[in-house]
Amino acid sequence: MNKFIFVSGGVCSSLGKGVAASSLGALLEARGLNVRMVKCDPYINVDAGTMSPYQHGEVYVTDDGAETDLDLGNYARFTRGHLTKANSVTTGQVYEAVIRKEREGRFLGRCVQVIPHITDEIKSRILAVSREDPDTDVVIVEIGGTVGDIESIPFLEAARQMIHECGRTDAISVHLTLIPEVAGGELKTKPTQHSVKAMQEMGIQPDVLICRAPVMLDDATRRKIALFTNVDPDAVFTSYNVDTTIYEIPLVFFGQKLDQVVLKKLGVESRHADIRAWQSMMERFAARKGKVRIGIVGKYMELHDAYKSVYEALFHAGLECGVEVELVKFDSSRLEEAENIDSILGGRADSAGGRLDGILVPGGFGQRGINGMVKAAAWARTNKTPYLGVCLGMQIMLIDWGRNVLGWEDADSTEFNEDSKHPVVSLLEDQVNVRDYGGTMRLGASKTATEEGTRIFAAYGEKTISERHRHRYEFSNQYRKEMTESGLKIAALTPDGSLVECVEWPDHPWGLGVQFHPEFKSKPTAAAPLFRDFIAAAKAASGNW
Ligand code: GLN
Repeated sequence: MNKFIFVSGGVCSSLGKGVAASSLGALLEARGLNVRMVKCDPYINVDAGTMSPYQHGEVYVTDDGAETDLDLGNYARFTRGHLTKANSVTTGQVYEAVIRKEREGRFLGRCVQVIPHITDEIKSRILAVSREDPDTDVVIVEIGGTVGDIESIPFLEAARQMIHECGRTDAISVHLTLIPEVAGGELKTKPTQHSVKAMQEMGIQPDVLICRAPVMLDDATRRKIALFTNVDPDAVFTSYNVDTTIYEIPLVFFGQKLDQVVLKKLGVESRHADIRAWQSMMERFAARKGKVRIGIVGKYMELHDAYKSVYEALFHAGLECGVEVELVKFDSSRLEEAENIDSILGGRADSAGGRLDGILVPGGFGQRGINGMVKAAAWARTNKTPYLGVCLGMQIMLIDWGRNVLGWEDADSTEFNEDSKHPVVSLLEDQVNVRDYGGTMRLGASKTATEEGTRIFAAYGEKTISERHRHRYEFSNQYRKEMTESGLKIAALTPDGSLVECVEWPDHPWGLGVQFHPEFKSKPTAAAPLFRDFIAAAKAASGNW
């Protein structure tokens, strides 16, 4: 079976298209289908790797080292399908490939055009995902942007052609729109009508509408929308605001029979749905007791999406530890000048929120705010507060240890100070001659050997683990001796012993940093082990302050 669902969005961006597409994927999986997800991004960047987190949110990394849009993170959290470079298609990649073929003379003298050459390249990439694994039943293709955008036209045209070529039982269009509420509480359907018109102008008649609305739409409104858009009334669904968690959305759709309607349109016999995993996750959500306050000390704090997978992994860990995780965000550059760090993090002066139960320093690039992070790490270390350092957060532990335990005032990473006499973090050897920025870091999954008796070993319960990387700098091996002799524990290495992957603080309840990104593999139904143990430690500590 090879079916295609094209998910597009209208009216405006940020309606939760990724979550809607992922939730539909989760429901089809619950009905026993093998689902693969593809994201089409209309931007001209070849991948998201060179984009600022402020512009585009977090860069999600796959096992094979693709630096992708954060929506792939949603797919990974909601669905089981394998995600690789092939699951992220950008205008930049498509044009790069077509231009390369043109230079190779593969178009035999023809004029190279958006239709058919660009659209054919898009189609062939989508088809390649559907053929990669013979067991694939459905490919859900999310088209980034909003209908009406110039940039997304080739992707919508490719979708139109595929729906036409496959026939409507093998390929359908699911369109997500907004039903805004105006003063007086009235819900307005006009933007949705216009949005569907824009789809029809592109030659696509949506088969299913998912309306983002503050509340569940009543029957009369759904019938009205159906009448104006040529969509069956029973194919108009509401993605209403939930006050629980986005992970309830699969159940919200299930309650409205979205999956049944989609399968009927695709000509797939209805199968038994097993949604127990989602239901029990929501039971765990409701059963959480108490709260831990986790300070996130990073540099891209204004935009929640910039550390999306980290925040989600903390939430998953809270589900597993039976506790609510309150995120307390600190812009590290503000901490830099702060003199009263103890009262800020210890919550003694401004007791509004109380003391932090744990501190997490996430990944990041560039000098800004580094000293604020070092201050926070030093505070967590000396105040015996659980600490998790992710990538840059581990490098920060090394800078703190160098400066404050070994007494090397200028200890630093060569990323921030090339002239430091104590470069405790330095450029990876194979990065020395790298000139291009795109796709050239140490990227993707690789193996790590953990040492028995350490916290990281306790978390994974395994001697060999595999996690994803995205960095250029590393623990400088020349300092291994002094660091370990002064008490810092090197708890994991690459299997050949050449690179340090994890350090732990001695005489501390739980202080650990890893050079990789465990957050990328965390799921609401199975939290990343290090996040789980970090929150468990924060929960244990919160009882003792
Ligand atoms: N900037 C650091 C490096 O390149 C850390 C990267 C990260 O946190 N992802 O090594």
